[in-house]
Amino acid sequence: MPVAVKKDGFEAKQIMGGTYPEARAALLFMVYAEGFPSDDLPELLAEETGLRIDLLQVAQDDLIKEGLLGYRHGHLAATATTKEARHAYAKATGETTCHSCGCTESWGCEDGCWWVSEGLCSACSGKAAQWPPPLPEALRDWPLPKRQRTTPARWLSTATQFRAFFEEALAQHGEDALAEIYHSVPRGASARPTRWFCPDLPMLATGRQEVVGGKTVHIYLLPARAALLALDAGLVKCRKDKGVPT
Ligand SMILES: [Zn+2]
Ligand SMILES: [Zn+2]
Repeated sequence: MPVAVKKDGFEAKQIMGGTYPEARAALLFMVYAEGFPSDDLPELLAEETGLRIDLLQVAQDDLIKEGLLGYRHGHLAATATTKEARHAYAKATGETTCHSCGCTESWGCEDGCWWVSEGLCSACSGKAAQWPPPLPEALRDWPLPKRQRTTPARWLSTATQFRAFFEEALAQHGEDALAEIYHSVPRGASARPTRWFCPDLPMLATGRQEVVGGKTVHIYLLPARAALLALDAGLVKCRKDKGVPT
């Protein structure tokens, strides 16, 4: 059962009733990751996620007893370190956790991170320093999707096609070309303006939609040069090229 949090921050999910661990996880995420101060968090979460309010209330009382939540100036607040909260969250969700900082699949590090190996995230491995490459000026205004776990991008065609597509964009529009790609994940009204394409490489929603193969897709912008470097860095997963006869 997925926990009541999503990579895009906090979104209602199709949880009917939920379980006690899900309630714990939702509360921890809301207070520590979202920094959401509220005196009626169980009610709010019950409304947003469909988790049962009695489960949320019991979970909140337990987290207070365990020292993970408490009251400061009369408001519910974080009372342990983020690392401690993340470990409790990982335990509740059963997600793989970074041994060093405790981040998980659905609660990534502040500036985004990805798995370098099982149980080690990029933020803790030092590898993040080698990536991303210099990005075009236009990207400086793009708000980064914080706290989203990033994973290698999945490209629904071959690496050859990927390369040809982005090289064409560079040939036509120069080094800082932004290529248009599409993505089929539905966007809610409150969706963030950017998503990660792959680790540390954001793509910007244009707000435009098109119908491709009978499906509505969303059009995003992506810096073509950086996309090619990401492919070279192994951060894009493509379909295998069919064997080319020699
Ligand atoms: Zn880590
Ligand atoms: Zn991390």
